[in-house]
Amino acid sequence: MADHFQLRLAESRMLAPAVRHMAFERADGAPFAFVPGQFLQVHFHYADGKPTKRSYSVATIGAGDGGTVARIEIAVSYVDGGAATNLLANLREGETVDASGPYGRFCLMDADANRRYLLVATGTGVTPYRAMLPQLEKLAARGAEVALVYGARNETELLYGEEFEDFARKHPHFQFYACFSRATRAQPRAHDRDGRVHVALQELKPDAAHDIAYLCGNPDMVDQAFALLKEAGLPVPHIRREKYVSSR
Ligand SMILES: Cc1cc2nc3c(=O)[nH]c(=O)nc-3n(C[C@H](O)[C@H](O)[C@H](O)COP(=O)(O)OP(=O)(O)OC[C@H]3O[C@@H](n4cnc5c(N)ncnc54)[C@H](O)[C@@H]3O)c2cc1C
Repeated sequence: MADHFQLRLAESRMLAPAVRHMAFERADGAPFAFVPGQFLQVHFHYADGKPTKRSYSVATIGAGDGGTVARIEIAVSYVDGGAATNLLANLREGETVDASGPYGRFCLMDADANRRYLLVATGTGVTPYRAMLPQLEKLAARGAEVALVYGARNETELLYGEEFEDFARKHPHFQFYACFSRATRAQPRAHDRDGRVHVALQELKPDAAHDIAYLCGNPDMVDQAFALLKEAGLPVPHIRREKYVSSR
């Protein structure tokens, strides 16, 4: 159930030139309960006093199904002239924001019994999958495979790339495809792909009988990947979507 609370910024770092990783703690010291894949909302006011809110997926690794974490990590991609961007880009460690959550059902369901998980993201849309890593690790026990197909313009915008590469090295059932739409890596790696996520997704030959897909991030990418997967025969309930639309 969603709760309202204040979040204090404990730590932050830049993940990319315009993406800030922010680690918050609840100001009341309580732990935060969420299911990986869920998001929270940050509440604030426009300059004219009108209340508004924005959504951010929780990136924290550590919560099991319905478990709790001490820190709420998010990755905020700066939007030119954005109201929440202005608030969050200028927030200093120790300062607080109003928030509520968790929300959303973009989660790996207990009932998921599929053999392959196609996880697709662009930009900060990769954060729910970071939170899901402990659950994804467990899928190996029942022989399931996971392919994370992640689109970025270039290597500086590949968020948490080394963490996913490291996870892939340790877990053979997990493959990480980095898809670069503008510039390839200075030193390309085996699973790098040129172009948008659809290139790697097609190469993976989506299979209606065994696959479930999760799509997160840019709404255009989500729509195009949805069309591709539907065309491949995946039933709509097996194509889970989270679009990062501006929520004003
Ligand atoms: C469920 C959900 C989860 C989300 N999770 C994240 C997350 O983890 N990280 C994250 O950074 N964002 C996330 N978003 C998007 C986030 O909620 C805000 O929309 C985003 O941060 C922009 O807010 P803003 O107030 O800075 O810009 P706004 O003041 O809302 O917008 C300013 C201007 O920029 C345009 N604009 C808004 N968003 C974009 C964009 N993405 N690209 C280009 N132009 C844009 C608007 O149309 C407007 O013209 C999520 C959205 C949803 C619905």
